[in-house]
Amino acid sequence: MEYLENRKAERLEMVRRQITARGVRNRKVLSAMRTLPRHYFVPEAYSECAYDDCPLPIGFGQTISQPFMVAYMLEALSLSGAEKVLEVGTGSGYQTALLGMLASEVTSIERITPLAVRAARILSSLGFENAKIIVGDGFEGLSEIAPFDAIIVSAAPTFIPPALAEQLREDGGCMIMPMGAFGAQSLVRITRSGDDLMIERLMDVAFVPMIQGLSDLE
Ligand code: SAH
Repeated sequence: MEYLENRKAERLEMVRRQITARGVRNRKVLSAMRTLPRHYFVPEAYSECAYDDCPLPIGFGQTISQPFMVAYMLEALSLSGAEKVLEVGTGSGYQTALLGMLASEVTSIERITPLAVRAARILSSLGFENAKIIVGDGFEGLSEIAPFDAIIVSAAPTFIPPALAEQLREDGGCMIMPMGAFGAQSLVRITRSGDDLMIERLMDVAFVPMIQGLSDLE
């Protein structure tokens, strides 16, 4: 496939300098990030910077996450490849595509319609058939297709959304998300065992806030 070679050298460099150098070791995550063309997901105006070590604006006050943060969160989920995954905060769709490569199926919820539409178009042009994007409020999750083996949240709530905890698989379902007010967020991993949630704090982070309700942007 043509896209596999397109700007490949920049991806190899991105993974080497930004990701393996900072300790991410999961082979499947590294391989997916060497393969997937991140520049397809970045707005045209920032294409030159698509492999830079930073988040980038994607419009509507939102950002595509820094490559390292995406790698770290994916590694923290320890996916085997068989999982049904829920993503909250599609944004550019870059992480959605990686999840499509690393899990069996992914459904992603985005509250800003134009971002969801754009991401869905890119995923379909790349041939992803196991990644679905839905316009909705991530605070509600998607009870119709729950439970999920894994949930990954890309915007920060200040508390664990109860619906997401309920929709995690009871025996060992795992959720990664940033949590806290701006300037004081931590990335946490939540593992469900029956009605118990084990919460591990992984690192300090800075994400856009998770906002309740749909956006009225068209
Ligand atoms: N992983 C994405 C991150 C995008 S930024 C990427 O790398 O492109 C976070 C996204 O979460 C934004 O697009 C924002 O609109 C979305 N978001 C915020 N609150 C949300 C909510 N309650 N439900 C769904 N999406 C939400």
